[in-house]
Amino acid sequence: MSLTWIRTHEWDTQKWRDTAACRDLDPDLFFPVGSTGLAVDQIAVARSICSQCQVTEECIAFAIATNQESGVWGGLTEDQRRPLRRAYQNGDKSVISVS
Ligand code: SF4
Repeated sequence: MSLTWIRTHEWDTQKWRDTAACRDLDPDLFFPVGSTGLAVDQIAVARSICSQCQVTEECIAFAIATNQESGVWGGLTEDQRRPLRRAYQNGDKSVISVS
């Protein structure tokens, strides 16, 4: 089986990734395994970094629109994003609001 992502929106026209607070950090920090034990500390550190990031809106919008199930994006955990992803997939595009 192959997966194909058909790009329907250019997400990085403002080059938001260039100013991401996590740009030069270990990506594994944002993708903890599980949600208990060591992962709790890892999630807290990731969310702390996100809280200082200037592109959280863009990051969350990207994660929801591209259906990112795993990891911390824009300071939101997998559990926190799940209802937003579901709403977006059900047609509520207002859940992503990039200003
Ligand atoms: S909000 Fe967090 S995960 Fe998203 S770009 Fe910023 S630091 Fe990285």
